Amino acid sequence: MPSDLLFPDAIVVDGHCDTLGDVLEGKRTLAQHSTQGHVDLPRLRAGGVTAQIFACFVPIHQYHRGATRYAMHMVDVLHQALDAYPDQLLLAAGAADIRRAQAEGKVAAILGLEGAEPLSDSLALLRSFYRLGVRVLGLTWNFRNEVADGVMQGANALGLSPFGLQVVEECNRLGVLIDVSHLAPAGLEDVLRVSRQPVIASHSNARALCDHPRNLTDAQIEAIAARGGLVGVTFVDSFLHKPAAEATIEHVLDHVDHLLRVAGPQQVMVGSDFDGADMPQGLEDATHYPALAAGMAVRGHSEAVIRGVLGLNFLRVFEQVVG
Ligand SMILES: [Zn+2]
Repeated sequence: MPSDLLFPDAIVVDGHCDTLGDVLEGKRTLAQHSTQGHVDLPRLRAGGVTAQIFACFVPIHQYHRGATRYAMHMVDVLHQALDAYPDQLLLAAGAADIRRAQAEGKVAAILGLEGAEPLSDSLALLRSFYRLGVRVLGLTWNFRNEVADGVMQGANALGLSPFGLQVVEECNRLGVLIDVSHLAPAGLEDVLRVSRQPVIASHSNARALCDHPRNLTDAQIEAIAARGGLVGVTFVDSFLHKPAAEATIEHVLDHVDHLLRVAGPQQVMVGSDFDGADMPQGLEDATHYPALAAGMAVRGHSEAVIRGVLGLNFLRVFEQVVG
């Protein structure tokens, strides 16, 4: 695998990208190197990425045609890519597939839903998505759905609904990793109380460094970590620094340092949000993970800590929850 990673054999996992939306809309393909957007297979390989969570996010303007319909189309787009490029891409149904991808020089695709809107009010749909390969479920996007309220719902946002409680239990039973990024604080408290498995916040930074509602307070970071979960540093410029236009990779490294201090070295991961947001200077696309690793080394982090943040922490939790 061509990459200039500090540790060429490192397992690198990115916990969130929105690339499937561009592919579904026909803007570009996964296989072809593009100068548009942030992620495609050549750029993942150049960046040394072993596994990428591909989120199925349903834009609000698609709700009238059915969120389930749109999410199924996104799942189909990924499966079409899996069929078309078996020499480059494999579906990660469990941790062994991530290791196999590394051994075979491929990229492991982990399917995720960003927001439970496609589930409507149905556990049968959750199980059906699982059978299609979905292994990560973001409970909400920014607003209210059948499961819970999102973080932009407002100050009176509610926690898990009775159906949301069932969804958490069914995710625990099936082996679906729950993602709490975008979830309102009351929902996060509920999930941490009822989930028997650790959860991830795949793409959320530290509120202490950048006061944005999508970022987590230190108490929230501690609570996720205390239950064995992970917080994923994200590159979204507006979650890094104000003004967002001045955000650089150094701000990402500041958030990494803070998350490592608050959560501990084994509870931090990376979730870029490539193809879902504007990126900081120095992390313009998926080829730039080596710069992140090098930046951590410059700041004095050990090889073990860097390997953990880049991918081993995620692999451990994915293995525990998904198998
Ligand atoms: Zn998001």
